[in-house]
Parts: sequence; C-alpha cells; structure tokens
Amino acid sequence: MLVVILLLALLMLRSCFASVNISEVESPSFIQQNFIELDGHSRTGREMTKVHDIVIHYVANPGSSAKANRDYFNSSQSNVSSHFVVGLQGEVIQCVPLDEESSASNERNRDTISIEVCHPDSSGQFNGETYGALVQLTAWLCGQLRLDEDDLIRHYDITGKLCPKYYVENPEAWEQFREDVKKAL
Ligand SMILES: [Zn+2]
Repeated sequence: MLVVILLLALLMLRSCFASVNISEVESPSFIQQNFIELDGHSRTGREMTKVHDIVIHYVANPGSSAKANRDYFNSSQSNVSSHFVVGLQGEVIQCVPLDEESSASNERNRDTISIEVCHPDSSGQFNGETYGALVQLTAWLCGQLRLDEDDLIRHYDITGKLCPKYYVENPEAWEQFREDVKKAL
C-alpha cells in the first residue's frame, strides 16, 4: 500500500515539474498538417525546445485562403513561414512542426509558436469562423504547452510592426481575444 502511495506521489510530482516535450504533442483532428519543405529559409529545421509565447499575425493579403498562404510559404519566392495558418472558413493548416522554429517573428522565432490569420478585407478584422478557430487553436496550444492568456503576444509587441493590424489599431479587441482564450482554457 505504502509503495503504491509513494509511486502515485512520485507520478504526480513528475507531472507537475516535468517540462513539456514539444515533439510528443499529438495533433487534434481540427488541425490539417501539411508541412512545407525544408529549404533552409522558410523552414530552417532548427529545433525549438522551449516555447514561451504564442505570436498572432495577420496575413496582410485580404481574401486569401489558408492553403494559398501555406503554398506561398512553400514556394521559392518565400523566406517566411508560420506554424499555423487559420483560414476564412475556420480551417487550420499546420505548416511547420511544433518542435521546429518558424520564420515569422524575428528574434522571437527561437521560443514562440506563430499563427498567421486570414481576413476578408483590408481592415484586418477576422470573420466569425476564423475567430472561433483561432480561439480554439490558441487555447489548445496553451493547454499543451502549459501557457495561458498572458503568454499571447502580437507581432507588434516584438517589432512594432502593424501586425495583426486590427489588434494593433483596436487594443480592446486584442484584450477581448485574450479573455476569450482564457474562457476556452
Ligand atoms: Zn506578423
């Protein structure tokens, strides 16, 4: 009996303190994995062992689909990528494995997961389907990586770039997004 209790206590301690092994995270069915090719630029293959934040971007190409953005990352004209693209129908495409750096967030590529988000027009505001999927994806990532709403940042917070445009111009909408992720955790 004592041995069982000790073992249980040890297991609980382990789950509290063990660091997240990103490469063991299993992908849920709402994510379509369609990784881009390793080309040394868009996808460098550099290993990422720790994630401190999740960075939200907008694609800055109104009306473009998640697939079109993924295919652009995969093309020879591109030297950028993101881990995920969320589309106008709420589809989620994963372009880079979680345990590899993406090429989206400048000096923070080394310790962040990046999400590019599609938008119907030049305001950069996300539609309802896209927003719902973004909240679901972000909350799922937070759960897997032991992060919370305070670990969500905008590209703007790293470089001052106007990205994601709507959330830079409407900081209250950004705070609402963080609240909605918190509720979904
Ligand atoms: Zn950006």
